[in-house]
Amino acid sequence: MDYSPSAKELSHFPFLKKAQEHIKKSFPPLDQLLKEEKGAFLVELAVKRINQALAVAAKKPPVAHFQTRDDEEIASYVLARIIVSCIQDKQLYDRLTRYEAERAYQFLLSEKSTESDPGAGWNQHAVLDDEGNSKIANYLAAEFRIDLAKDRMPLADYVEIVSVLHEDRFKLVNRRVQNGQVGIKKEELLELLRERIRVILRRDLPYHVPKALCAQLAPVAESIKKEYQQQMLQQFGSIEESAFPPCMQALITALTAGTNLTHAGRFALTTFVHTVGMDVPAIAGLYARSPDFDPEKTMYQVEHITGRGGSGTEYTAPACAAMRTTGLCVNRDAICENTSHPLSYYRYKKRELAKRQNKPEKNDPSPAKQGTPESPDSKKA
Ligand code: SF4
Repeated sequence: MDYSPSAKELSHFPFLKKAQEHIKKSFPPLDQLLKEEKGAFLVELAVKRINQALAVAAKKPPVAHFQTRDDEEIASYVLARIIVSCIQDKQLYDRLTRYEAERAYQFLLSEKSTESDPGAGWNQHAVLDDEGNSKIANYLAAEFRIDLAKDRMPLADYVEIVSVLHEDRFKLVNRRVQNGQVGIKKEELLELLRERIRVILRRDLPYHVPKALCAQLAPVAESIKKEYQQQMLQQFGSIEESAFPPCMQALITALTAGTNLTHAGRFALTTFVHTVGMDVPAIAGLYARSPDFDPEKTMYQVEHITGRGGSGTEYTAPACAAMRTTGLCVNRDAICENTSHPLSYYRYKKRELAKRQNKPEKNDPSPAKQGTPESPDSKKA
């Protein structure tokens, strides 16, 4: 391809090989850089980047920070990956790679201005081909082995990319598969590119960072760990088993009674309790209530589902619709009427329990009976 991305384009997609080459001559070796004022500034940018990644996980929209030079922007990407590698937390690797992939996707979508918003595009000089893709989009896709001009891709590549996409439209049964190629709609190509970026960036983490370098970055790593813990606490706080939805209560009751849970049941319970803040040993402890508890097998399964095993993939708890399909939605109560996800149920009920503890009430009317405008699925939930 007879095209070389500009520094500005590289700063929007800092994971490109060309971007890494671009900054090689701009900065001294890292251990030296970290002792300089410039190093401290770049670390600050990297921390901002990681914190934005954590905020995105907490459902805030991605924010670009482009008050800095192009090479500094690229350096902050590299430093952010080095810092999370020192922290050695798989959830942080997942959050950061998801953020970088989503950010790249948003930049691909917003490269050119639109008629309704003429000043919106960040790449005014971009020239689009017949398919509506710019040179940097084609360049980026080629580096990640996706051809934006094609309406199909090899089956093996497709299966790897969509493995974490839960929407029905991505399921193989809903796809045209011919001669080992899966049919793709044009408008889905960038979505698949985003997932491919995420998979590849995640696969490369953690970096093997020398211990001395991690020691230099230790104070920063500590501050990020604190921020991350705070985010988790803000989202779910301490674990309140009495606020678990009926479906999860039923799974725990079944475990305690010695019933073997189905794979779907184990998956739903493990992902749920993991998201509300239970760590791996505590989850294994939950399974220890079962009379046929096998510690080794349980730890393996739990680590796999929570992303601490080899796959590195952190799964999400199934929504109520999926729970119904697998027959796990049982003992529904009034809160369930306005709930589409067991996690929304939990957050809502936990808040309600906390309110009641502060202000005891004579009756205990359900939110449906009260007709309150706030429901488990409202934005607050
Ligand atoms: S409606 Fe949702 S939260 Fe309630 S029991 Fe069913 S799956 Fe669980």
